[in-house]
Amino acid sequence: MLKRIDLSRDFHRHKEEFMAAIEAVCEETAFSGGKYADRFAEEFAKYLGVKYATGVNNGTSALHLAMLALGIGPGDEVIVPANTYIATAWGVTYSGATPVFVDCTPDTWQIDPSKIEEKITDRTKAIIGVHLYGQPFDFAAVKAIADRHGLFTVEDCAQAAGAEFEGIKTGNLADIGCFSFYPGKNLYAFGEGGAVTSNNEEYIDKINVLKNQGCRVRYYHEVVGYNMRLEGVQGAVLSVGLKYLDGWNSRRRQIGKRYDAQITNPVFRKIAHPLNTRPVYHLYEVQVPDPEDFLNYMAEHGVECNRHYPVPCHLQEAYRSLGYHEGDCPEAEKLASHCATLPLFPEMTDEEAELVIRLCNEYRA
Ligand SMILES: *Cc1c(COP(=O)(O)O)cnc(C)c1O
Repeated sequence: MLKRIDLSRDFHRHKEEFMAAIEAVCEETAFSGGKYADRFAEEFAKYLGVKYATGVNNGTSALHLAMLALGIGPGDEVIVPANTYIATAWGVTYSGATPVFVDCTPDTWQIDPSKIEEKITDRTKAIIGVHLYGQPFDFAAVKAIADRHGLFTVEDCAQAAGAEFEGIKTGNLADIGCFSFYPGKNLYAFGEGGAVTSNNEEYIDKINVLKNQGCRVRYYHEVVGYNMRLEGVQGAVLSVGLKYLDGWNSRRRQIGKRYDAQITNPVFRKIAHPLNTRPVYHLYEVQVPDPEDFLNYMAEHGVECNRHYPVPCHLQEAYRSLGYHEGDCPEAEKLASHCATLPLFPEMTDEEAELVIRLCNEYRA
């Protein structure tokens, strides 16, 4: 069975290096925060070209802390795409603010700038764009709207480590960038991990205090804080991964571009990649008339596929109290009903990619 993603291949290829990195953390007992977590944050900032980065315990915390750093809280509203992983909205909700969901475009499947302004009110404080599937959203258009209305911009880069918009790496575009290193993301930890990036020192300083139980000096707590530090082992593993990230991403692009060009079966609708973006093909998402039928067909032929995401945020049970209805975000709803994710990961062989392409082209809906 070809898995949708197989991390064990990557682990075995770099096993000695990963294990040596973990051993170094153990020898120095730098387990929570500390040298290896800090070193990774520095390396990551340098990689992105952004002034500051700080490691946190996961991507959801990164989004939560971003809201707090911007002073967003109860009574505020934050624009969030309906087509994203739910954690984009959790960060807003945890801060006490309300997520306001906006539909995606019919071609890039990212937040639709033409539908943002109608959702802006006196309470709106920020717009969070998500570079979903590793495909950068139209940051220039979002930024223009944000500037017109005096709003902050935040990018959810959980799926887009190394992607570029107009030659600039994601995480270096908005006021704050939020990353997840959950296993399976393009850059991943051996457990949970995340990072927050910014060119504004004040935001990162605030987050450094908040993530560390509200203190700068141990046992002196300035504010009510959280335990959201990055673990040392994860920092060390991420430093190893970061060295390979560009290589992994170029292999992802190679496979993704083959799918783009060679899956020609008209039953599939594919995503658009605007020329001013350099995607990293985190997830190869297609739209197909009956996803369950397609997933069964692929499984019968030895290929595992899955779906991202079957329910759009605005229709999730958890957000029922916000009062959204079917039809509020029609493009996101269409995607949720028809999406399917093909296998794509850097260690996939050419033969496996060819198998996926052949099966897709032979599929009859
Ligand atoms: C993975 C992901 C998150 C959450 O990150 P965690 O590390 O799992 O908390 C947030 N947003 C998007 C778009 C994601 O894909």
